[in-house]
Amino acid sequence: MNLRLSTEILTLHTRHPFIIARGGNSEYRTLMVKITDHDGVEGWGEAAATKFYGETLETVQASMPVYAPLLGDDPFQLEAIEARLIAALPGNAAARGAISAALHDLVGKRLGVPLWKYWGLDRAKAPRSTFTIGIDTPEMIRKKVLEAAEYPILKVKLGSNDDMTILRTMREATDRELRVDANCGWTPAHAIAMLPVLKEFGVTVLEQPVVPEDLDGLAQIKRAAQIPIIADESCVTSGDIPKLVGRVDGINIKLAKCGSLREALRMIAIARAHGLMVMVGCMIESSLGISAAAHFTPLVDIVDLDGAALLRDDPFVGASIPAGQVTLPEAPGLGVARR
Ligand code: MG
Repeated sequence: MNLRLSTEILTLHTRHPFIIARGGNSEYRTLMVKITDHDGVEGWGEAAATKFYGETLETVQASMPVYAPLLGDDPFQLEAIEARLIAALPGNAAARGAISAALHDLVGKRLGVPLWKYWGLDRAKAPRSTFTIGIDTPEMIRKKVLEAAEYPILKVKLGSNDDMTILRTMREATDRELRVDANCGWTPAHAIAMLPVLKEFGVTVLEQPVVPEDLDGLAQIKRAAQIPIIADESCVTSGDIPKLVGRVDGINIKLAKCGSLREALRMIAIARAHGLMVMVGCMIESSLGISAAAHFTPLVDIVDLDGAALLRDDPFVGASIPAGQVTLPEAPGLGVARR
């Protein structure tokens, strides 16, 4: 009997409107994917579609009737199933990522082991996660920094016209470690001009300063920088890694970009082979989506899995980041349950 796929829309709200260089929102809708085997065991995943990568909730929903008949009857055939999905309908990474997560959850549940253990990982090796402060007024930034008191590493979103005010406000509000994500908001010249400023404010990592296709711009910035430059929007799948070698110091992997947990593991191996640092990031998503990415955090250098921590109505419990410490569940599969 074939694996059965069903879905459920999740409506999520951030505690504060979450603004980055290309805009923001406070209500987010994601799609929960449930895959059920012939014994009634259910695997779960979550698709957090992003318009920037060409997906919406509606495209994710529309892709499911294409993917569902291709699942076959054996969830352990992860490689073959994922190959069938991408061959039938490429792109749609958030949709495929949710199916990949649900299949891995199902496999873990059938074996009675959490995914990190199935992969042979030591969960104590997971680096601490950042917590992100979105673009906001100085007053709100001070409030958010106070609310985020438990997190020892903060990530700040730049790339607006208020960068200097935001940096100054952050630094006045806290002496914690700061990392910056410009979300493609700068030119190479502006990014290079910002480097001494970032240094003055003690910023330790700079993520995606320029537009995705400006790889030479990234290289110029890397040459001038004393802190790691991480490619996020410039690095979607493993195929993007070879051309980033020598141009950045590391890559940021997200399930909603790469479309598969197996592809995420391939990206880690390829990045390591090229001496690149590895970061794992997320979208605004519940603990279901966050948990899928959290299971491979013992393999990475930089963790930014705050998507569920930013919510006020997370429907799930699973992997979490109390005080920034990635905490991986002992329960089988993704280890996620309804709250
Ligand atoms: Mg980023």
